[in-house]
Parts: sequence; structure tokens; C-alpha cells
Amino acid sequence: MQYDSPIKQTPVAVVGGGPAGMATAIALALKGQSVVVLERGRWPRDKICGEGVMPAGVDVLDRLGVLPLIQSDQARPFRGICWLDKQGQGVEGDFCSGHGLAIRRTGLSDALYRRAQQLDGIQLWGRATVKDMTIESDGMRLAVSHEGESCILMADVVIGADGRNSRVRKWSELQGKPPVSVRRWGARQHFTAAPWSDRVEVWWADGVEAYITPSSESRVEVAFLWDEAVFEPAEKGAKLVTSMLSLFPALRARLADAVDAPTSAAAAMGPLAVAARVASSDRVVLVGDAVGYVDGITGEGITAGLLQAEALAETLPGLMAENRLDWDSMRSLGSSVEDIFRDTVPLAKAALLLSRYPWMRRLVFRGLSRAQGLFTHLLELNMGRTHWYKVSPVTLCEFVLGLLFPRDPKPRVADGRSMTSKNAAVLPRRLQRSG
Ligand SMILES: Cc1cc2nc3c(=O)[nH]c(=O)nc-3n(C[C@H](O)[C@H](O)[C@H](O)COP(=O)(O)OP(=O)(O)OC[C@H]3O[C@@H](n4cnc5c(N)ncnc54)[C@H](O)[C@@H]3O)c2cc1C
Repeated sequence: MQYDSPIKQTPVAVVGGGPAGMATAIALALKGQSVVVLERGRWPRDKICGEGVMPAGVDVLDRLGVLPLIQSDQARPFRGICWLDKQGQGVEGDFCSGHGLAIRRTGLSDALYRRAQQLDGIQLWGRATVKDMTIESDGMRLAVSHEGESCILMADVVIGADGRNSRVRKWSELQGKPPVSVRRWGARQHFTAAPWSDRVEVWWADGVEAYITPSSESRVEVAFLWDEAVFEPAEKGAKLVTSMLSLFPALRARLADAVDAPTSAAAAMGPLAVAARVASSDRVVLVGDAVGYVDGITGEGITAGLLQAEALAETLPGLMAENRLDWDSMRSLGSSVEDIFRDTVPLAKAALLLSRYPWMRRLVFRGLSRAQGLFTHLLELNMGRTHWYKVSPVTLCEFVLGLLFPRDPKPRVADGRSMTSKNAAVLPRRLQRSG
């Protein structure tokens, strides 16, 4: 970076314009804070993701004013999750606190971008890569390459929303140990097909799962997650996702000819698990995957980032007003963000055990076949909306009954009916506003 680079100033610099960074900028701007968002790519951003936002995340999007800006052909509500074995038989659980939203990542990014543009306090710098970050006596110094030009941005506070491989985390010496040692990878591709379910489906095999997320009336996403110690994809590149469908013949048959006409390129990433030691330092706080990420298996990454954005916007403006931005003062802010991530870890670890150990998975499927309430409890727990100890004894008894006398599994994929009209009837009003 040259010394004659122009110097600009901002109270808050958000590094990364993914869901967590954009939501943080919006939440701060709604509190009257001025923010610059630096994003190395251009909006709308795409990313490998299962594309399911949990009800708690949908509520944040609503509170931030993002929900009405989501185009109707970019998203579709879902009522819960369905776990299926390779034959397409399994168990399902529905949320009891609202609907999730299956949303194309570019559609989510576009809505966040348009909401940010509506707010006076936000400057959006696209094609702005932060190359280096140092702390100075009067603030943070960011060396930025913006639209090919070098510049320096001085900020009172830097928010690291730069994803799993966060450089802000590294520059602040906040790198921690991943919460799990298993090395899992993820891949995804989109296909033109009418959705056949109003739940996100998870198809389980040993060490690998397929996730089916319908994000419009004519688009489904197929994502895979796998453990590199147990499974290696037969093909790489363009055929990665379609070749993995051979692991799930019933699913492959359901997708039929759609498999020959993908609407996005197959893409993969991994290993997935990362974590920060702590989420804050002098004048720095992390948010989203930069704080930590376990796995896509429980599908709460975006939701956690959105909740963290709100938590951060609750506390940061007060600290800034009092100029309390040292390590100790920033700790309470960091802890509130860390807690949201840490709460996601136990369930993700439990789900990873089900992926690795088929006998355990079979038992859980048996138990849940008579205990849909327990499945619902787990989904709500995953969003931090209930506690372990609040599970009802009746539900636990049903689980034990299911272990002993499992209900005959119902085939979930045979009927092939389109959800279009039925689904429209269950759309929450606030989602119908969109489009
Ligand atoms: C296979 C898979 C399936 C998943 N399924 C789900 C799911 O169903 N539901 C769910 O909620 N979550 C899911 N997730 C997780 C979810 O994708 C992440 O939790 C979410 O994207 C995190 O958002 P973020 O804003 O923290 O990071 P990101 O989305 O990674 O955004 C970070 C941004 O920072 C930018 N950036 C990075 N470095 C710099 C720099 N130096 N300068 C400027 N900009 C920079 C990047 O370009 C990027 O736009 C899944 C993840 C995987 C891998």
C-alpha cells in the first residue's frame, strides 16, 4: 500500500457484505450510526449454502425491514424439516414459532443490499477488498483496494463480518480452535423443478447427507455435506453434485430430468468448522461465520448471524458514545455475540454423531416416529427459542415408545404433489407482502 493513498474516515467499518455484515450495517443505521460496508465482490453475493433461514432469522429480517424487499420468485416459506433415509422414508418436525424461509442466496443479498441503500447512514463499497488492518492510537487503519484504487480507511471500530476464513479474526489474533475435529465439506447446485414438499428435506446416508431446499415454485436446491474421512465424491467439477445423487436413488428419481438442466454451477467448499477464541478485541468485534461455524447440518448459520447483528447493534452505539472501545469494554459486546454462536454448537455436534453412526441415526428415527413434538422442540432449541429442560415428559415418553414400537415409516416422496396452492394458504401474511 502506498503512503500517498487517500485517507477516509468512518465511525464503523464493516468488513464483508454477506448476510451478517449487511444485517449489522442495517441494524446499526437504524440506531442512527454511520457505517461503511466493504465487500470484495459485487452485490448481489452468491455463496455455497443450504439456503434455509429459520423462523428466528425471518423475524430479524422482518424487524430490519428486509422482508418486504425479497422478490417473490426468490423465496418460499417452509414449515419444518423432514429427515429421510436413503429409501425416502422418515420423520418430520414443524416449527411452532413461525415459518422458515427458503431463499436463493442472491435473492437474500439483493434484499439486504436494497434495504441498506434506503438508509442514509450506510455507505456501500463494492469491489473493496481489505488488505490489511492495524490498530493506531486514534483508531483502526484499514488498507483497502477499492475499485482497483488503493486507499486508507480510518475507523473507530471495525466489525469483522468476513466469513469463515476471516482475515479480521487473524489480524486481531482472535483465531481459535474449531469446535469439532471432523473435516466436513459442502457442495450445492440448483435445478428447475416444482417443489414436492413444504419442508426442507435432509436425506441421510453414512457420513453424507443431501439437503433439498425449494426456494421458488420452480427451483430446488440440492446441497450435500460430507465427512472427508468417510466419503470421497467420485466426480469433481461440473458433475460433483449430480454424481452424488447416485447415493440417493429415490431422490434422484424424484428430480428426474431436472438433473440434466442445472441452473447454477456446482460448487464446493470446506473444511467447514472454524472458531474465534473470543469475538472481540480493542476496537474490533466479529459477527457471523467469522465468530465461528460448525456445519450446515443444522442450518442455522444465517439465522445466528442475523441475531448477532441485532445483539451487536443493541450495545455498540452506547460504547461508541462513551468512547469505551478498549478490550475490557468490548468484552460484554463480544460475549453476547459468542453466546449466540456457542448455543448452536451442542445440537450441531449431536447431528454430526447421527451422520457418522448409522445405528444411532436408526434409533433416533425410530424414537422420533412417535415423537413429532420432540422434533419440534429440537428445531426451536436450535434457534435459541427454548431450553433442553423445557422438553415435556409426555414427548420423552413418546420417544421411548417409538424406540420400542416405531410407527411404520410413511413414504414422503411418492405422491409428488406440488405444494403450490396448499402452500399459499399457509404463507404468513408478512411473506405474502413481498414480491
Ligand atoms: C454447504 C453449506 C450449507 C449451509 N446451509 C445453511 C442453511 O441452510 N441455512 C443457514 O442459515 N446457513 C447455512 N450455511 C451457513 C451460511 O452459509 C453461513 O453461516 C452464512 O453465509 C454466514 O454469513 P456471513 O455474512 O457471516 O459470511 P459470508 O456469507 O461468508 O460473507 C462474508 C463476506 O465477506 C466478504 N469478504 C471476505 N473477506 C473480505 C475482505 N478481506 N474484504 C472485503 N470483503 C471480504 C466475502 O466476499 C463475503 O461476501 C451453510 C453453509 C454451507 C457451507
